Amino acid sequence: MQAIVYNRPWDVQLTEKAEPVLSLPDEVIVEIRATGICGTDLSIISGEYDARPQVIIGHESAGVVVATGSSVDNCRIGDRVIIDPTYYCGYCEHCRKGLRNHCLLKAGTEAGVSVDGTFTRYFKTTQRFIYPLADHIPFEQGAMSEPLSCVLTAVKKLAVTPYMRTAILGGGPIGLLFYQALSRHGIRDGVICETSPQRIKLIEGNNFLANGWQTAPAFVPKKNQYDLIIDTTGSLLEKSMLAIADGGKISLMGLRNNQQTINPREIADRSISIIGSIDSADTFKHAVDLINSGTLGLEKLITHAYPLQDFQAALQDLGCDPVKQQRTNQIASLKSVIMI
Ligand SMILES: [Zn+2]
Ligand SMILES: [Zn+2]
Repeated sequence: MQAIVYNRPWDVQLTEKAEPVLSLPDEVIVEIRATGICGTDLSIISGEYDARPQVIIGHESAGVVVATGSSVDNCRIGDRVIIDPTYYCGYCEHCRKGLRNHCLLKAGTEAGVSVDGTFTRYFKTTQRFIYPLADHIPFEQGAMSEPLSCVLTAVKKLAVTPYMRTAILGGGPIGLLFYQALSRHGIRDGVICETSPQRIKLIEGNNFLANGWQTAPAFVPKKNQYDLIIDTTGSLLEKSMLAIADGGKISLMGLRNNQQTINPREIADRSISIIGSIDSADTFKHAVDLINSGTLGLEKLITHAYPLQDFQAALQDLGCDPVKQQRTNQIASLKSVIMI
């Protein structure tokens, strides 16, 4: 089967790979129909996030069950399903402390990072990581469960309250899923700062925002401006410190390598919380339920779809250029998906 394989930074190629086969009774093989291109994939490609060489990348996916092991009892051949790609063992020290997203076995088990992922036709998982996709929800929307689940995990940690003055930095898929999640917690009149004019146009053009939320072309911090800042870019902590109000919360979720300088005294003196979050813990089912409700307007978020063969073009449209080996904010898409 053809697959998108990561070899080394800036080197991802369409490559022939062996199809997976069942070997254990609880395993499930899914024929992948849609996989979202995630910021993590871009960070892998640009060398900012480590992945195993020769691994098939891709982890946000939905498809159809084509084979099941003898003990599988939560899905059948032909079922439309969503895959949770983030393995957890359930019995290591971290899993037992409620930190499934930091499972001690995670380093060697993450689909699309350290084990083969889903930018290909067939993917093997176990029944523990399979969720149903409702009949009326398209596969590409089902594939949004993973990023939504990550956002819900972060939102849970933030313990938000209605009417917090809020800025989301970065109007990409994660920023826009944060908007959806925070809106459901009663947060209104927030701002989404996005430096790509094309992305602003897409967000405004398809009326994605409601309840007083607006876009801004730049983040220009002012003192005591926000109670909550969601930095999805991973590079705006210093500026966020200038804009956060006393007692405010800054959420960090972007995986970009850079150094920022902040003053610890200020964090203490102004009771500021800086809260990091990665992957999802105990929110995947909630995300799946929200996706299956069909109420998130995801058809407006998923603006571009490509066949596997056009993966390089899809990267270009996301401002990630393997030829020039650079990432820019010349971004033509909100969420892009590979349809197989
Ligand atoms: Zn992702
Ligand atoms: Zn574990």
